[in-house]
Amino acid sequence: MSALKLPPIATVGEVMRLYRIRAKKNLSQNFLLDMNMCRKIVRSASHLKNHFVCEVGPGPGGITQAIIEKQCRHLTVIEKDARFLPSLKVLSDAFENQMSVIHGDILNFNMENAFPEELKKPWKSYPPFIHIIGNLPFNISTPLLIKWLADISERRGAWSYGRTRLTLTFQKEVAERIVAPIAADNRCRLSVICQHLCDVNLKFIIPGKVFVPPPKVDVGVVSLVPLVEPKIKLPFKLVEKVLRHIFHHRNKKCFYGIKTLFPENQLELAEEMLEKSGVKPSFTSYQLSMEDYNALCHAYNEICQRIPAVFDYDYRAMPSNRLAQIQKIAQQMESDSLSENAKWPSFRCDS
Ligand code: SAM
Repeated sequence: MSALKLPPIATVGEVMRLYRIRAKKNLSQNFLLDMNMCRKIVRSASHLKNHFVCEVGPGPGGITQAIIEKQCRHLTVIEKDARFLPSLKVLSDAFENQMSVIHGDILNFNMENAFPEELKKPWKSYPPFIHIIGNLPFNISTPLLIKWLADISERRGAWSYGRTRLTLTFQKEVAERIVAPIAADNRCRLSVICQHLCDVNLKFIIPGKVFVPPPKVDVGVVSLVPLVEPKIKLPFKLVEKVLRHIFHHRNKKCFYGIKTLFPENQLELAEEMLEKSGVKPSFTSYQLSMEDYNALCHAYNEICQRIPAVFDYDYRAMPSNRLAQIQKIAQQMESDSLSENAKWPSFRCDS
């Protein structure tokens, strides 16, 4: 497929020199001036022709130009650093106004209405003609991914249009954790939460020295495609909480983390969760399979349905708050056992 030829515009290096731009550490700015690498990232996103693309943090615009060359239908870029706005405006003019430049913070950007309504596809069908791309700033990449995973789970934002795909960069270590299989040394909460919602692929590694300025680490390009059916069909907050507690004690037996989901004086609830799930208590967090996590989350959910205050329990809350939480759980457990007794009246033998 022939690439779109843009009218002559400043190269990324020229943009940096022209506007005298020096990288800002607080915005995690590591720029890609090598157009071949920018094109390689965009190629790894596969089809973009006629797509609506959203790029996070375009900076001097290398990846932006590579996206435009792919003949997408429309490109929206969101950049926090105002110094890049004039050169992005030049690019937008060259792309005949098929590009919107938004000066803002991606963490607050709502993609719910960012694309035309007619792009919406049923969740179970082929992904919509929308793609999110970004050489993400390291300092926000994990919180941003977690936020988007919550959106995927709730099918809101960019995922109110269907199973919108993403191609994103992360520090190599984070990228490897995202795709880490069961029992791998680097399997963590992020691996399970990503893989329960998305098909994840580590496309390739970019050596740190390619960036300006070069970060101390290499960078991994990851693609994420939301699954038709999540592996754990429960609310994101609940799944995230169970994973967080179990992985917090990564190398200990999983029962250790499970216990922290409940007050210390209600150990029987932790035992109930483990028993209902059928999971081996001797397994550590990273040895548990997706099926094990599914069973654990469902067992925890069952307990939360019966005793709702359990979900709000936080073993690291201030002592006074924790005491109130424990009392509420005790009250709900008592009324639960009373209603159980009401359902199963005991027989008295008076004679
Ligand atoms: N895409 C460019 C490239 O590859 O050369 C720049 C990548 S640089 C790693 C990250 C970019 O994201 C910077 O341009 C930075 O200003 C921008 N950025 C940082 N935090 C942001 C935020 N919260 N929202 C939007 N953009 C942000």
